[in-house]
Amino acid sequence: MHKLKLWLTVAVLCVVAGVAAGCGRSVADQDALAHAKKTNTIVWGVKADTRLFGLMNTKTGKIQGFEVDMANALTKQVLGKSAKATLVQVTSDTRVPMLKGGNLDAVIATMTITPERQKVLDFTDSYFKAGQSLLVKKGSKIKSIKDLTAGTKVIGVQGSNSVDNVKKAAPATTVLQLADYAQAFTALKSGQGDALSTDNGILYGMSQQDPDYVVVGGTFTKEPYGIALNKGQTNLRKALNKALQELRADGTYEKLINKWFSDIPGFDIKEVA
Ligand code: GLU
Repeated sequence: MHKLKLWLTVAVLCVVAGVAAGCGRSVADQDALAHAKKTNTIVWGVKADTRLFGLMNTKTGKIQGFEVDMANALTKQVLGKSAKATLVQVTSDTRVPMLKGGNLDAVIATMTITPERQKVLDFTDSYFKAGQSLLVKKGSKIKSIKDLTAGTKVIGVQGSNSVDNVKKAAPATTVLQLADYAQAFTALKSGQGDALSTDNGILYGMSQQDPDYVVVGGTFTKEPYGIALNKGQTNLRKALNKALQELRADGTYEKLINKWFSDIPGFDIKEVA
């Protein structure tokens, strides 16, 4: 009798919790597209430390950049004109745990589609073709990845694959990892490293902010950016891929690429789209 009571209690609790949490499934497991349609929003992880892509404007409190504009345009394309994107700040280090934890529907945050990441996440088609490069102080002896020998120090950001790429391409150099790109650039400016390495677009954003720092040596990797989703979110992935195609076809995509990247000296926008 006692056992039966216990069993019933567990069953009732399961029903109550099930209604609240999608019947034992975490938010990350629910159909993200169906949920987005119900709430008329897509919850996006965006950068807030990365000029040109996603940067917090401290005066307005708004995050601005190419990826923010893309998140807004994609949300409306998928859900309709009245829908609004919900933006949540992520860093290179927090984006995967936040997505997997069910806090986000999608991540549009300078994230390269890599085979390792594809083991745990799904990606849409690529929306931006970056490549890794180096940022140095004007006049630096470092001109390319070949100059990163023993005795040099390179600054990178935790959770980015740029750090692994540097270790592969220049195994003798020391790598200093910081929490985000704002801190990484501050560290370069205060002389904590000889170069900062990540994708060219991100580095051009820093160079735009402070022209005393320049991008050198071209690119030494290919970094196609994709929108990351939880594994199995096929409906949302397909809807976003369709929306990406539509935004390319109707000229919105090109307009946004031009808005953010057309007047960056040295940056070839024909290569990224
Ligand atoms: N695209 C690289 C990556 O996904 C570097 C940029 C970043 O840290 O977001 O890791």
